[in-house]
Amino acid sequence: MKEKSIFKKIIAKEIPANIHLEDDFCLAFDDINPQAPTHVLVIPKKEIPSLNELTEEDHQLLGHIWLVIPGLANQLGLENGYRVVVNCGDEGGQEVPHLHYHVLGGRQMTWPPG
Ligand code: AMP
Repeated sequence: MKEKSIFKKIIAKEIPANIHLEDDFCLAFDDINPQAPTHVLVIPKKEIPSLNELTEEDHQLLGHIWLVIPGLANQLGLENGYRVVVNCGDEGGQEVPHLHYHVLGGRQMTWPPG
């Protein structure tokens, strides 16, 4: 049987995470290796490996996640702004094969990203 991914284990509460928000479709929790004073991951509960595996049936789920993020940012006190990042594939820097949105804030972001 396929081993559960780390994020599936967090969804199942089999490993701990500092959860900021949970609803029927997604979960938001602190990144274990923060790259900014605030670094929260938003993940769909549905197991989608990356942006590349999205299908038409995920329309509503994606819309839901984008609509959740501004409220989450407000809850996290990011009134001065924040950045949302989705890494996709090896060259995109993706390490965990479960779609996730990095919400980063609490410092001035720079461009281009590394
Ligand atoms: P990515 O490189 O885009 O796949 O991002 C994966 C992120 O998951 C990294 O920023 C890791 O620090 C984070 N991460 C890995 N394991 C955990 C965990 N158990 N709890 C919280 N964040 C994690």
